[in-house]
Parts: sequence; C-alpha cells; structure tokens
Amino acid sequence: MKRPILAPRPPAELPGEGYRKRQIAAWLYKKGAREFDAMTDLPRGLRRELAREWRIAEFDLVQAFPSADGSVKYLFTLLDGQQTEAVYLPYKDRKTVCLSSQVGCPVGCTFCATGALGFGRNLTPWEILDQLLAIAHHQGIPPTEIRNVVLMGMGEPLLNLDAVSAAVRRMIDKNALGMSPRRITLSTVGIPKGIRRLAEEDLGVKLALSLHAPDDETRKKIIPTAKAYPVEAIMDAVADYFQTTRRRVTLEYVMLKGVNDAPRQAEEVARLIKDRRIVAHVNLIPFNPWEGAPVEGTPREGIRRFAAILEEAGIPTTIRWSRGVDVGAACGQLALKEAAPLAFHPKRRFPAGNR
Ligand code: SAH
Ligand code: SF4
Repeated sequence: MKRPILAPRPPAELPGEGYRKRQIAAWLYKKGAREFDAMTDLPRGLRRELAREWRIAEFDLVQAFPSADGSVKYLFTLLDGQQTEAVYLPYKDRKTVCLSSQVGCPVGCTFCATGALGFGRNLTPWEILDQLLAIAHHQGIPPTEIRNVVLMGMGEPLLNLDAVSAAVRRMIDKNALGMSPRRITLSTVGIPKGIRRLAEEDLGVKLALSLHAPDDETRKKIIPTAKAYPVEAIMDAVADYFQTTRRRVTLEYVMLKGVNDAPRQAEEVARLIKDRRIVAHVNLIPFNPWEGAPVEGTPREGIRRFAAILEEAGIPTTIRWSRGVDVGAACGQLALKEAAPLAFHPKRRFPAGNR
C-alpha cells in the first residue's frame, strides 16, 4: 500500500490538530525526526497510527561523497528509482545547501553536465524539501541550523515552479523551517514568464539569472532556450522582478574560453544592467570541467580581466571559485556519477566519524 506523502500538503493539513500538529511539525523541522517512532512525546498508539498512514523520508537511499574542502555531495535515490543530487556547503559562519528541483534537466546547456544527462522528471515539493532534511539528519544537525538555500542543483526551477514554490513556502513558514526568504536564492536559465510568475508568487526569494552572454548570438550557441527567449526580454523580466521585490539580483556568468569572455561582452553585460537601472551584481563562475564537455574554461587571468571591466563600469563583481570539484559537486557537475559512495540507510544515524 502506498502511503500518503506528508509534506506536499499545507501545514494546516499535517496530521493531528492544534497542539498535536505543532508537536509533529517541531519534530519534523526543528528536531529533524525521520520516523514517527522518534516523536517520543506522542502517545505510542498515535505514533503507530501515523507511521501506518504517513510517510516522512522520500529517499530509498542516500549516498554521501565528502570533498576534501568540507563540502559533501549527496546522491538521492527516490522511491521510484530515479536519482537526484544536492550539495552541503558548510562555511565558517553559515551552513548552505544547494538543492535540485528536477531529475536531470530538460534545457540542455552545452557547458552543463546535468544538461547532458537529459530530463528525468519534476521533483515533488516534499522531494525538494527532504533533500535539506536528509542532509541535516546525515550531518547530525537540526534542519533549522541550515539557514541558506540555493536552488542551483539539478534542473530548471522555473520549469517546476509549482513544486518549488510549495517547497519554499514550507522553508519560510514559521511553523516549519522558519527561514528568511532573503537567504533563499533561485537560479534560472531565464524564462521571462516564469520570472514574472515568481514575482507574483511573492515569496521574497533572491533571483539569480544565468546570463552567460549579453548577446543572443552567443547565448543561442550555449543555451537552447535562448532561441525562444531573447536577452532583452529576459532582462526586462528581471527588471520587473527587481522593481516588485526591491531585492538585489545576481547575474551568473560561466566563463567559457573564446565564447563569452571578450572584453566587449563584459561592457555589454554592464550596459544591460545599467540601461534598466537594476541593482545587480555579477557572479563570474570559472567553468567546472566534466568528462566529454564540449567547451573549455577561461584561464584565471582572463576571468580577472573580465571582472575588472565590469567593476570599472560600476557593476559589483565577484568570482565564485567552486567547492567540491573533486567529488563532482561543483556548479554544473551534478551528473549522477558514483565514486566510492558512503551509503547509509536514511532511517539510521550515520557514524559520527564520517560526518
Ligand atoms: N537551471 C538553473 C539552475 C541550476 S545550474 C540555471 O541554469 O541557472 C546553477 C548554475 O551553474 C548556473 O548558473 C549554471 O549556468 C552554472 N553551471 C552549469 N554548468 C556549469 C559548469 N560546468 N561550470 C560552472 N558553472 C556551471
Ligand atoms: Fe539546466 Fe541550468 Fe544546466 Fe542549463 S545550466 S542544463 S538550465 S541545470
């Protein structure tokens, strides 16, 4: 018998009523319980009944790939056998997770390993959220200790916006994870309708646009959806998002040798931003290589030069040196490749030494 899924329902529909509901939510989100049996202040009979009727964990198997730099890639096997990935990124002052919104990605950008993988399916809201809960469990920390989320894993979040938005609502719900929406970033390849709908959803999340080229000609060569959506239309939607939310926007730009790294292109990027009076900053991403990639990265010097042109034009620019490259966890490397995984059963605690 397939048990109903717990979290895609709004919080009001958690099992139980009033006080009980709050108790269960606290166990799930504040304490990170993975089984009803662990909810020790509920009567035993109720725990048994809940376990019969509801499901918490969305994954059959969770495999962890720790990187030498402290980040950890997670490979999740979903209940239907499909797989997806997420990354845990501990920093000195905060803990961040990079979550997936789909299995693979239907867009197929040339520089992205996820794109080369093709498309599996959309993730459900609970499958998106449970990546965070399972990571917290594995790390031995309460889920509420993870304060930053980037939707930059597998998939294009605006092509699964209903589910993404339901998952985000639960992240910011005071009775669930209670996160600040300012600390949640959604990264998109640039779908104007989707960006406008995201603004209407009024989630308050930060928007990151994967621009990667200021001109349609270059963009079309590396991003298939650029044929349907011209840069100017995307930037207009981004400007509207900025006007509605007043949140600083991030423009991501993966540096590809001889493709999008000419000085003229840096000037064009600055113009796109300034013409629309958007408060934006540019994040240059050194290309993370993967087997069979048809493109090459711009050498460090070229990246610095590109950054300098943007800065000179008055656009705050940072270079994002990726983490987790050694375990295939860096931006664009998520491709379901297994390498000496540390498997553990989601219901069991992971040995402390491996955290
Ligand atoms: N589909 C969304 C979010 C996932 S990709 C998007 O495209 O924005 C997250 C970021 O990683 C995007 O900016 C993407 O362009 C970038 N990326 C993809 N492949 C990469 C690679 N091989 N090296 C560096 N960045 C890459
Ligand atoms: Fe999909 Fe983003 Fe990768 Fe493009 S870069 S294929 S949109 S995940």
